[in-house]
Amino acid sequence: MSLNLEVIEKDENNLIFTIEGITVEMANAIRRIILTEIPVMAVDEVIILKNDSPLYDEIIAHRLGMIPLKTDLETYKLPRECECGGYGCPLCQVSLTCEIHNTDTKPKTINSGDLKSNDPKIIPVNDKIPILKIDRNDKFIIEAYCSLGIGKEHAKHSAVSNIYYRYFPEIELDDSKCDNCPDKCIVSRMCPKRLYDFSSNKKPSLVRDYWKECDLCDSCRTNCPEEAIKINIVDNKYIFFIESDGVLPFNVLISKTFEIFNEKIEEFEEKLEGIDIEIQS
Ligand SMILES: [Zn+2]
Repeated sequence: MSLNLEVIEKDENNLIFTIEGITVEMANAIRRIILTEIPVMAVDEVIILKNDSPLYDEIIAHRLGMIPLKTDLETYKLPRECECGGYGCPLCQVSLTCEIHNTDTKPKTINSGDLKSNDPKIIPVNDKIPILKIDRNDKFIIEAYCSLGIGKEHAKHSAVSNIYYRYFPEIELDDSKCDNCPDKCIVSRMCPKRLYDFSSNKKPSLVRDYWKECDLCDSCRTNCPEEAIKINIVDNKYIFFIESDGVLPFNVLISKTFEIFNEKIEEFEEKLEGIDIEIQS
């Protein structure tokens, strides 16, 4: 069975694709790897040198940690896999600094764009994320250190905001059975996603790309008095929906996912070789 992946929609923050030729267990493994195993940069350590704001240092450190940062997986390593042994070096750590003295007459909001990175590739994905406010004549001076981590350890390292998949639906509508109820098709009103069009020919028809929206609720099939609808699930085909805050480009995300998937299979095989398995019937 060969694997077939087709991108349906893609923009900066959303990706919809279908994947064919894998089992549901593999589809779920892909979902879990994307959610929890892809390394992503986030603030890990903060040194607060001056904080005149009304927020506690701990709250500021938490807010800094949750700022999504653009990640470069080519240059940086996970601290535990780095030659420095996780102590922190230019191969596994990036520093962000912020030094602001509000000389204005009004309070000032400090945003993610005010953080200065020592690597221009590792910056906040959005420079308008508010961190805190300081009053006039107040100061805010910090040093923050970012490193790669995985979502399994902390949600701040999640590579995506949301990911889910659905079975691929295939609906068969036999409109020759629709002659008995031409004026008020119950099905077109019962579908919560409004996937049946009843505007032309006095017979219902499925809207284009209905499979993208259909969540297999079965209300059309169970409510049709003429039993004109059949719903099938296409074997080994799934639709994936991914929402990203932009920390990694989707092509890097997908290729890294399959790299980790293969590593896991290899690790499993290696561990299996050392074990004598007795199958008991
Ligand atoms: Zn290092």
